[in-house]
Amino acid sequence: MVFGARLTVLGSLNMDISVTVPRLPAPGATVLGGAAAFAPGGKGANQAVAAARLGGSVRMVGCVGNDDFGARLLAALAREGVESSGVRAVDGVPTGLAMITVDGAGENIITVAPGANREVGPAEIAAVAAWPADVLVVSAEIPVRVIEAALAAEAPAAPAGPAETPVPRSAETPAGAPGPARPLIRVLNLAPAPAEAAGLVASGVDWLVVNESEAAAVLGKPVTGLPGAARAAADLVSVGARHVVVTAGAAGAAYCGPGAEATAGVPRNQMAGGVPGERVGGSVSGEWRESSGPAVLTVPGFRVRAVDTVGAGDTFVGALAVALAAGIAPAAAVRAAAAAAATAATRPGTQSGMPRPGDVLAATGYAWPVTAS
Ligand code: ADP
Repeated sequence: MVFGARLTVLGSLNMDISVTVPRLPAPGATVLGGAAAFAPGGKGANQAVAAARLGGSVRMVGCVGNDDFGARLLAALAREGVESSGVRAVDGVPTGLAMITVDGAGENIITVAPGANREVGPAEIAAVAAWPADVLVVSAEIPVRVIEAALAAEAPAAPAGPAETPVPRSAETPAGAPGPARPLIRVLNLAPAPAEAAGLVASGVDWLVVNESEAAAVLGKPVTGLPGAARAAADLVSVGARHVVVTAGAAGAAYCGPGAEATAGVPRNQMAGGVPGERVGGSVSGEWRESSGPAVLTVPGFRVRAVDTVGAGDTFVGALAVALAAGIAPAAAVRAAAAAAATAATRPGTQSGMPRPGDVLAATGYAWPVTAS
């Protein structure tokens, strides 16, 4: 068990309007659903809530409109213990909206009206730079120029905690104890992938997290299943990212970067189906390598009964960020994130379905490794 994880989350805040339907509508079709539900969302806010529930000390930076939805979103963050003085209420623009349609199998389609999220700019970059943190999480429902600036900005050195080769903190070395200054870990979640995504990655990214379709958008070729995610992760490292995670829904996630060779397993009975013919050694969770490419760790999805996968990706990002901020090594952090994300899929709602450590243990048998300091 490790303690202490300070995160800044720069990203979107939306009011989610969700409707459950018997089947997702085809283009041009109308499908009757149930009653509309209003809930706080936005990838940035979702990741902030996921991180806070899993033990992170979290500050949110972004914009809402100066309206009722904006006030409700700020109140929701406060209820989750997320510090929100870096969220600006902008006059004259509406709070962001997301219209979410979910079918009985938990699949979804989402349309976003960005509203105030388009106003995120220099004030928010300054807010990010003003706070020391172990990890900065940036997602892509905000202007690309802001993402670029956030990834390039000077960051105040955090006083104690994980370095590039993380040193897990423990009860003997609690958060806040004096220690050497260490660099900010920056996690870029290119969701949704902007048109400039390939250039962003090529300019050098510390941690990149994308799902299959986002990886495909960056690479300009299809990415399917865990084998495809593994190949894409290696490709994205060769393009310019240092650590890459490509998530593949229920199939799991692939990690390429330092520490990917580590193969400490997760019990087979926690895992969904394997990846035929792709991994060396036949392990359920292990190293995979093209003949000449870098090592890739594949983490098959935890076997759970999914009821709503909206928010699984955001939970993955928030959980990964908490684990990294707490000093957990990359491969173990990716496994922890997969367990948390699988748990989110077992629970209805987006922020409301985000798990606490006990939920992760109950749903997956995985003991969440970070405790709030
Ligand atoms: P996004 O929601 O961004 O599209 P994914 O669908 O790839 O992201 O899901 C992110 C992660 O959540 C996956 O890598 C996996 O670890 C976990 N996950 C998602 N759906 C399931 C599921 N049905 N069962 C188990 N784990 C899941």
